[in-house]
Amino acid sequence: MKIVICGGGISGLSAAYYASQLLARTSTQKCKIIVVEKDKKVGGWMKTNVQSADRSVYDGPINEFGPRSVRFAGVVGNNTLQLVSDLKMEDEVLPVTNSHVAAKKRLIYVKKQLHVLPNSLLSACTKKTPFSAPLARFIGPGLFKRVPPSYESMHEIASARFGEEVADYLIDPFTRGVFAADARKLSMKAAFPQMWPRLGPRKAAKPRRPLLPNREIFNKTLTANPFVKKAKRERWTQWTMKQGLANFNEAFAKHLEDSLGVEFLRNSEIHQITNHPNGKLSLQLKTQGNKEAPSAIHNVDHLISAIPSYALSSILRRTNGGPSKQEYPLVMLGQMLNHIQWVDVAVVNVEYDGPAKENLPQLGFGHLVPSVEDSNVLGIIYDSCAFPQHDRLDKPSTRLTCMMGGSWFRNLFGDPRQVTTATLEQSALESIAEQLKITKDPSHLQVNVHRQCIPTYQVGHTDLVENCEDLISEHNLPISLVGASYWGVSINDCIFNSRIAATKIISGQGL
Ligand SMILES: Cc1cc2nc3c(=O)[nH]c(=O)nc-3n(C[C@H](O)[C@H](O)[C@H](O)COP(=O)(O)OP(=O)(O)OC[C@H]3O[C@@H](n4cnc5c(N)ncnc54)[C@H](O)[C@@H]3O)c2cc1C
Repeated sequence: MKIVICGGGISGLSAAYYASQLLARTSTQKCKIIVVEKDKKVGGWMKTNVQSADRSVYDGPINEFGPRSVRFAGVVGNNTLQLVSDLKMEDEVLPVTNSHVAAKKRLIYVKKQLHVLPNSLLSACTKKTPFSAPLARFIGPGLFKRVPPSYESMHEIASARFGEEVADYLIDPFTRGVFAADARKLSMKAAFPQMWPRLGPRKAAKPRRPLLPNREIFNKTLTANPFVKKAKRERWTQWTMKQGLANFNEAFAKHLEDSLGVEFLRNSEIHQITNHPNGKLSLQLKTQGNKEAPSAIHNVDHLISAIPSYALSSILRRTNGGPSKQEYPLVMLGQMLNHIQWVDVAVVNVEYDGPAKENLPQLGFGHLVPSVEDSNVLGIIYDSCAFPQHDRLDKPSTRLTCMMGGSWFRNLFGDPRQVTTATLEQSALESIAEQLKITKDPSHLQVNVHRQCIPTYQVGHTDLVENCEDLISEHNLPISLVGASYWGVSINDCIFNSRIAATKIISGQGL
């Protein structure tokens, strides 16, 4: 039995973990799990500025270029903490509790001012700028309004229920913060499925999200986990790792290799997939500087794709000549996956001398900027507020991250392959000066342009993904789709969906 996982981001590592754990428990057959990763490092978008940020030897700042925190909420949040505790990394976690200013204060920048968003029932019942009335007055009646049956986008639904103000100042910036995308295009059904049954049109079809078998037993096990209990007791809202999130992945990969016997092929890229009449797959690999790596893997029983949909799409559409009858379903799948759109995001990490309480007009998690405002940034995260432990140790400093671009990248900055670092740097500093009134020179600044880094779950996304899954099962293709492309972009969703996929594969194989 040979399972290959394509992609060593958090989704691929999680799929390898759950598959190997389940196989170890249930299988008597000899099984091999191989993770193929294009880069030298695993972790995908989870990138930290330093490889080893051990505070006994490193006193500089710890900056995240991709995700910076993991939410502790719901089953998926519990599941991630259970994983952390399985990996014996509890002591590495830096939590933020609900009494912390970064949990209590989220802001928006509207009409040249910062406004604190209501964070309790009481504050929702009080009139707060920029809203013209207490938020509860929009939300309360809106819950009972009807929404036209064809509505699916975040903005359409929010404005039909709660009015334009809520759609523009609450839903739109929230969507920009999570997906870097336009709320007018983003599907609520796909992007926020937990909201859909309550806020979507009446009798709207629920998305066919993957579910775990024995969900109730599973949920009970999670809530009984001592680390999850501790997080609940202490009222965590989010957390990160002491040495940064990228270091979590390296430790995770080491555990997979050393304790679970997972094989890693780094610097190896899956280039082409061929399906054979016996139901097995052959994978052609391209290796970069890894002379010992094989150029192909044959007799693959199952492939878990944990790479972005566009990357899988081009692999599947690559055939030797026109597609044969056998290859046709793979090519079809590739064509369907090509419809999922992705956005580019510029991440600008900025550091200033002096503590956050002196540099920032208000402490908090950060602020988001609605798309109706004329701004080059999607939002600015006040990293030093949530995780001051990641500030440099030698002198007081303030770390911020400007998120820029997303769905608006080309309009604002042109072609992401050609935009200069200087342009993005200047835009970030101008936005910080205007919105946070920090005009001094930064002590450090780093720009990263992440190409095609977050999928946009456009209206119709769930139908598209369901059709892809139907095609896979109708043609008995030994392929599973996991990763941010399909059923949730957060780290929690990626890990949880990989767990579901691994459970289904192992139970489906009857091992
Ligand atoms: C800027 C930014 C900020 C974010 N902030 C947060 C946050 O604060 N909290 C949160 O929960 N989520 C956040 N997210 C979302 C989350 O980080 C991602 O959705 C998640 O990390 C995606 O993981 P993945 O494993 O599915 O994909 P990826 O991270 O994209 O991993 C895919 C891997 O596959 C490899 N690969 C690609 N093609 C091939 C091939 N042909 N062969 C072999 N390997 C291949 C890649 O090198 C990569 O390592 C953020 C995302 C971004 C971009």
